[in-house]
Amino acid sequence: MLASQWAEAMADSLVRELRAIVGRRNVLDATVDLQTYEYDAYLERSLPRLVVFVHSTAEVSAVVRLLAREGVPFVPRGGGTNISGGAIALHKAVVLEMGRMNRVLEIDLPNQRMLVQPGIFNLDISTALEPLGYYYAPDPASQKACSLGGNVAENAGGPHCFKYGVTSNHVLGIEVVLPDGEVVWLGGRSHGSLGFDLTGVFVGSEGTLGVATAAILRVLRKPEAVKTLLAVCGSIEEGGHIVSAIVAAGLVPATLEMMDNRTINAVEESMACGFPREAAAVLLIELDGLLEGMDEMAEQIVAICRANGVQDVRVAQDEAERAALWKGRKGAFGAISRLAPNYLVADGTVPRTELPEALRRVAEIGCRYDLNVASVFHAGDGNLHPLLLFDSRKEEDRKSVMAAGLEVLRVCVDLGGTVSGEHGIGIEKLDAMRLVFDEADLRAQAFVKDAFDPRGLCNPGKVLPGPAAPPEAGASASAAEAAGANRGAEAPKAAKTPVEHYPAGDRLADRLATLLGEERVDRRPTVAIHDIPAPLGVFPADEDQLSAILALANREGLGVCVAGGGTKLGWGNRPGRFDLLLRTRDLRGFSHVDADNLSLSAAAGMTIAEVRARAASVGRVLPLDPQWPGFATIGGVTATADQGARGAGFGGLRDVVLGVRAVLADGSVVKFGGRTMKNVTGYDVTKLFIGSFGALGVLTEVTFRLLPRPGKQALMVIPLTSLGQGGELAAQIIDSHLQPLALEVISPACVRAVSVAAAEAGTLLGGVETDIADGESWLLLAAFAGHPATVGRSVREVSGRFETRPPAVLEDERAESVLDTLANAGPKPMVSGSGLALRASLPLREAWAFAEAAVSGAEAAGFPLACRIGAARGTVDLTILGRAGAAEPEAPSAGTAPLLGDFVSGLRGRAVAAGGHLVVRDGLTLLPLGFDAWGDPGPSVGLMRRIKDRFDPHGVLNPRRYVGGM
Ligand SMILES: Cc1cc2nc3c(=O)[nH]c(=O)nc-3n(C[C@H](O)[C@H](O)[C@H](O)COP(=O)(O)OP(=O)(O)OC[C@H]3O[C@@H](n4cnc5c(N)ncnc54)[C@H](O)[C@@H]3O)c2cc1C
Repeated sequence: MLASQWAEAMADSLVRELRAIVGRRNVLDATVDLQTYEYDAYLERSLPRLVVFVHSTAEVSAVVRLLAREGVPFVPRGGGTNISGGAIALHKAVVLEMGRMNRVLEIDLPNQRMLVQPGIFNLDISTALEPLGYYYAPDPASQKACSLGGNVAENAGGPHCFKYGVTSNHVLGIEVVLPDGEVVWLGGRSHGSLGFDLTGVFVGSEGTLGVATAAILRVLRKPEAVKTLLAVCGSIEEGGHIVSAIVAAGLVPATLEMMDNRTINAVEESMACGFPREAAAVLLIELDGLLEGMDEMAEQIVAICRANGVQDVRVAQDEAERAALWKGRKGAFGAISRLAPNYLVADGTVPRTELPEALRRVAEIGCRYDLNVASVFHAGDGNLHPLLLFDSRKEEDRKSVMAAGLEVLRVCVDLGGTVSGEHGIGIEKLDAMRLVFDEADLRAQAFVKDAFDPRGLCNPGKVLPGPAAPPEAGASASAAEAAGANRGAEAPKAAKTPVEHYPAGDRLADRLATLLGEERVDRRPTVAIHDIPAPLGVFPADEDQLSAILALANREGLGVCVAGGGTKLGWGNRPGRFDLLLRTRDLRGFSHVDADNLSLSAAAGMTIAEVRARAASVGRVLPLDPQWPGFATIGGVTATADQGARGAGFGGLRDVVLGVRAVLADGSVVKFGGRTMKNVTGYDVTKLFIGSFGALGVLTEVTFRLLPRPGKQALMVIPLTSLGQGGELAAQIIDSHLQPLALEVISPACVRAVSVAAAEAGTLLGGVETDIADGESWLLLAAFAGHPATVGRSVREVSGRFETRPPAVLEDERAESVLDTLANAGPKPMVSGSGLALRASLPLREAWAFAEAAVSGAEAAGFPLACRIGAARGTVDLTILGRAGAAEPEAPSAGTAPLLGDFVSGLRGRAVAAGGHLVVRDGLTLLPLGFDAWGDPGPSVGLMRRIKDRFDPHGVLNPRRYVGGM
């Protein structure tokens, strides 16, 4: 017998079965091999049971299925650069080594997408895109060594995330092998997912919810110009003040990075990058974008630096100098390792206005514990990285550094921040989770883990504190799973049956009146949902009352439908049970408004218009423009993820909401996220709530990221010869270096509807000459905002592409007013049957063929259709009007329901075939009874149901109104 055969025979049966799946050489079981995998970039070690190299999704699935069968825990592993111990295999877990799944599978530039495997190094993604003039924005300093899978798991950030956002803002879809081996896609190629934002909650889940085996990324055009400045500061606090001043001046550099004197010297010792060794701190500021305006912005920044007393500020003269500065910044952690045998990186984040105070207190902690501290951090995001230097061989040192690290995190929380900006909780910050979250918050996060991984096999012992009992080999399925937990269970159909009501409505009204006061109960509401009258209305005055109502409803098994301003009562499916209409409009006020930190928290009942006005009063912009801003509340808008034309520049709700408070179905009050720009403290349940249609809880407060008010805005109104021409022009703009705030193509019927809406607002499409907005031609609306020189260049460039006639250009308030009226051109809210509104979300380039098909299909069927294409988001909004030529949306006649139903079903099929989805946003009553407003989200629906079951086990909230009959 050969030695290898002998070894094979001796291996345990698990090893043999694993080798049968991945090949003999791809399973490591020798201790000497396993030792290479017993650590990551954190301080702890733990020997894995085995290491398995995987090469394909099928292999991962087969391996995970086998491990699940045996009840063996496992940990996916990328580059092993994690700093919080996330990749360490606790409880003798098996390591799944993902590094060989490292290919670019597809680059789809027309749709600005890329499909990659998870083992690819972050830097290799941008290297692959470089010759094509594109890049992938999240750029952790570790980008040469960390993998995309690890970035997804940690929601990694990087210097450029100040302007462009973190990983979750750039990942649209993820293929995941769930902890039982099932393969599902979360999200997809289009913006905005159907159903819960599972992509959003998976990103940042630290490898505890499943194994990412592929991801669809957003890729960006490389900026036309870049300018890098180095400010030499007299103190680290001075640097902090400059950051605040730059943000306060309304400037948005691509990066704002800081290093202190100890770091500067370590970097210079190790790689001589040209940083001034005597400086107390340096601030690395990079601007990118169009050439026009860049010099002016740089001058503005230089002036701010000088006004704040910097010793020197210089501009990198060429690419070599710029590259040297970045080499130093990105190599800083490595350089610091020369200073001491070990360091602990504290990754707390504070509102950026608190940076100077946080830095002062960190220095004081260093002195108190007699530890040298080196600081290098993402100053623009308020994300500190004090590196506490020590020698792990000395027990005393180890104890001090752990205690000091926890104190640093406590300081961050005290100042309104959180305990992790980008490195995750791992095992390092399990205790620190309790500095931020109470038991109710943690319990809600545990629902997420339980829904994905009921047996706790996937990367156990991470993220959530508490007894992390090692799953025993052969552990049996959890009770939830054993009971089926809805997995694969047939979807409850959209309600065709009569709606159930509380049997004795008046008794319920009396009980609520006793609980809240008679004035808070509406015994004869006039509101209906899809023609089903609300039996009883209730208006809680505050979160406590709301909690009491839901606790009662939960005990009694009531069906509670939730509404804010009522603008979206026509959205979603008919309720399966309807005992109570809970209105949040009396939840009022702002718990914080911080102009310099660019954040604001408002109670759920505030309208968008009110919040916008409050932001404007401090010189900031609320980056939201949903329908009916005068009526729509921020709770309702967040729960429906409604975003309008300005989404091209601002992104969706998921890009602008920093945190939420909510009351769950059982009445418990929970919070997720916070006020900081970066936050990976626990699961991103905030994302799960955005667009969840009230199915998981009732939002009581939302915290938003604000934006500086742009120096200039311009809206170009361009008449088109055809829809096709609009598609070509829009594609040219998207492929260019221009960054539109809005890019919409609207049909003649939509122009007429907008004009009517505008007339109501006292302006006729902003006063555009009627030969342009004549109501007979398609129009392209392209809006730009920013520095006046940048906006000027954008307008000139677009005008140059348009050969026949110069477009109309509206400026500032006039531009804003037209964009606002666009939002009000749909069916009238709360007027049942006033129109049918559909929204398809598609990969960018698919939107045009879809819109053509919709328009010609409607024409053939005799439905006059208003059509609006959000070219930069891939959305197609369709409103079915009444009589041909009618300026306002109007219901089709009663007998058209079957025809309309066929038409909408056909469109939905087309959207799905093109990689998107279509939802009925309003007017379900115009379609046949039982028509599903949402469509089928595919195999991930099982996961969604398990999440719903955990959060709302009795189906109290908006029963059956959401996706999949949830
Ligand atoms: C010098 C240095 C600089 C750094 N700079 C930054 C920075 O600027 N910004 C920043 O955000 N971070 C930074 N980090 C931290 C680290 O690089 C990031 O957390 C990175 O995202 C980890 O990627 P990785 O491939 O090394 O993952 P690993 O360390 O291998 O794993 C991290 C986590 O991801 C999980 N995981 C890995 N692959 C998958 C997968 N396919 N599916 C599901 N889960 C998976 C693991 O289970 C683990 O929980 C830095 C680290 C170092 C050492």
